Amino acid sequence: MTPSLQTEIEDAAARLKAGELVAFPTETVYGLGADATNVDAVLSIYQTKGRPRFNPLIIHCADLAMAERYGQFSPLARQLAEIFWPGPLSIVVPLRPGHGLADVATAGLDSVALRVPDHAVALELLRAAGRPLAAPSANPSGRLSPTSAAQVRLGFGDAVPVLDGGPCQSGVESTILAVDGDRLIQLRAGALARADIEAATGRSVEQVRDGAAISAPGMLLSHYAPNARMRLDTRPEPGEAYLAFGPAPAFAGTMRNLSEQGDLREAARNLFAMLHELDASGAGTIAVAPIPETGLGEAINDRLRRAAAPRGEASSP
Ligand code: AMP
Ligand code: MG
Repeated sequence: MTPSLQTEIEDAAARLKAGELVAFPTETVYGLGADATNVDAVLSIYQTKGRPRFNPLIIHCADLAMAERYGQFSPLARQLAEIFWPGPLSIVVPLRPGHGLADVATAGLDSVALRVPDHAVALELLRAAGRPLAAPSANPSGRLSPTSAAQVRLGFGDAVPVLDGGPCQSGVESTILAVDGDRLIQLRAGALARADIEAATGRSVEQVRDGAAISAPGMLLSHYAPNARMRLDTRPEPGEAYLAFGPAPAFAGTMRNLSEQGDLREAARNLFAMLHELDASGAGTIAVAPIPETGLGEAINDRLRRAAAPRGEASSP
């Protein structure tokens, strides 16, 4: 690694620690990186990509030891990490209590997708930053994933600094594999072949059609769904819990306000924690105030609509 690249990596790590975004190379595609423990940094990913949905993001780590601070690895999950990391395998495991990741990075789930990328620049950046990086592909929502620094600049112009590590080797996203007890479930096909996972572990890998909802164990739900029923665009009735936004009517029941000032970023920051709190209040129904459909409001409304959809109809990302 040249001294100037080393300096660029240190500069990029300092930006990440300050909550800024940096695009960086991995062996799959270029990622739009943010400190995964910083809510506002992760929200900037959504704003910058113009992503209209809160999907759980893949959390990149420097090594297995760092990943184990955030996820709970069963012996089988650890075996997979030891065989295939660094490499294009994202492993979904239960979140570790006290993990410290921003809940917008995991979209409020109790599981997390972790990966150690096989790229010298990415690994050096992760070590220098000393923290996990949430990093979806570094392209505006709906556009192709970038495999060179030039393609990242085409998408974002000067809005995001790019660490140039040359063209990506693979150009295909990582394979996403959930480890659930002794089951291996492929959630997304990717750069690591299912047959390679089967050969290495001697276990069969179940497939989930891309985009299909997973109905079975809670940890695999790819979106958080409260137990309470949700009613949108409405005022609360007695006995309900209320999720307000902006100036709210007096209300005797359990109420949380996403943002009294009507600020969408503040609302996004509060969304998952407040949904969990209202759900835990035991109310059978949560009434939700209207939220404008602009900027981050789009992703907030998408999340609330999916939480309000009858079970089985709420589609996964
Ligand atoms: P991206 O980072 O945009 O390439 O996409 C990340 C993918 O990982 C999405 O399709 C997510 O649904 C999936 N993913 C991330 N974390 C989880 C999780 N905890 N459970 C299930 N799927 C996940
Ligand atoms: Mg993408």
